Amino acid sequence: MIEFLGIEHLFDLSPTEKILGFFTPLIVYAAFLLVQLLLPARKVAGYVTNPSTGEPIVYHLNGLIVFIVMVTVWWFELTGMPRDWFYRSSIFAVMGGTVFTTIFTFITIFSQPKETRKNPIKAFWSGNIREFTLFNGRIESKMFLYITGGTILAINAMSGAWYHYQLFGENSNPGVFLFAIFFLVYIIDYCIHERSTLYTFDLIHEGIGFKLYWGALVIYGWAFASPLWGLAVYPDPELGSFWMGFLLVGASVLFLVGLGISRGSNLQKYTFKRWPERSFMGIKPEYIEANDRKILVTGFWGIARHFNYCGELILAVIFALVLGYFTNLWAWTYGSFIIGFCLRRERTDDMHCEEKYGSEAWGEYRRRVKHRIIPGIY
Ligand code: NDP
Repeated sequence: MIEFLGIEHLFDLSPTEKILGFFTPLIVYAAFLLVQLLLPARKVAGYVTNPSTGEPIVYHLNGLIVFIVMVTVWWFELTGMPRDWFYRSSIFAVMGGTVFTTIFTFITIFSQPKETRKNPIKAFWSGNIREFTLFNGRIESKMFLYITGGTILAINAMSGAWYHYQLFGENSNPGVFLFAIFFLVYIIDYCIHERSTLYTFDLIHEGIGFKLYWGALVIYGWAFASPLWGLAVYPDPELGSFWMGFLLVGASVLFLVGLGISRGSNLQKYTFKRWPERSFMGIKPEYIEANDRKILVTGFWGIARHFNYCGELILAVIFALVLGYFTNLWAWTYGSFIIGFCLRRERTDDMHCEEKYGSEAWGEYRRRVKHRIIPGIY
């Protein structure tokens, strides 16, 4: 089976290394907790309110500096961990990460009052609280998970690229390096715009359960880099210099387009929520009134109702194509997950929005902006 999947190199570890790989996530999560706690942070009031006080939750944001410190420690091997360790230990780390996030979930559920645990399976998967804070509010659960998961993802992608370079040297696949650079840029962009992410779906709707722990710390951190599990052991696909150049330039341009759509939509919504009358990139906001709420209908949010996911879909395809092995299923692991995820997420959010804004106002938005994600198509 492992040979059939083409990932036997990821099992090529000594027994001690396998155990170390299993515990790597726990050590790394603890290091992130310490670094996020110790580094200076910007204190900001978020969008989501505390249900018991009605006041906005306060976050201590230091994602970019945490990212820089952790990537520097990894790159210069300051802890003695080899640069390719994240990649080589991927499978055992996913196993360990799954066990540890299961334990975190149980601790979170059982530390809450009994009456909040109505349906144990639902509580396990979705959590029974929306967020929690530690160390006198210094660490907020969701932003800790996202900065940790995102930074681990960037390190995993670069670790895989480093492994690949050691294996093939001059005969390396340039697509593998671009794949790692794309994830690096994607996460740096996330860290730079950390504050605007306080206004997104997970912060508003998700509970702290296994779905979020495992999703952020294992799937986002490790499994999103899985195209390299199968493809870092393949050399340059030898498409010829013209087609390789075309692929690399084309993928880079489309990467920027996808990122621009996703980030632009996010920033426009963030600007609108904080300053409802302020223009964004010269676009004056127009909205539909829904009691004390407002539905934005111009700019990115007037092109499709979740045009931000259109950006993610472009990125999903580009992350697969850039590796140059178009028919290899490993190239598509990340892309197919994201496509399925966004299609489902859009349906769920559409339902939530209908509840929040009322069917009349949301129905009016549906009439004005006909398509869900892809303008003119879907
Ligand atoms: P969104 O940023 O789309 O947030 C959804 C919420 O925004 C809604 O519940 C509603 O909340 C508000 N909203 C939606 N439409 C409007 C409108 N027209 N006017 C005013 N408010 C509106 O959700 P996500 O968290 O899913 O996405 C955030 C970013 O993360 C996106 O750029 C997305 O592409 C990216 N992403 C990346 C993923 C990845 O793994 N690569 C996965 C998922 C998302 P309310 O009214 O309560 O403010």
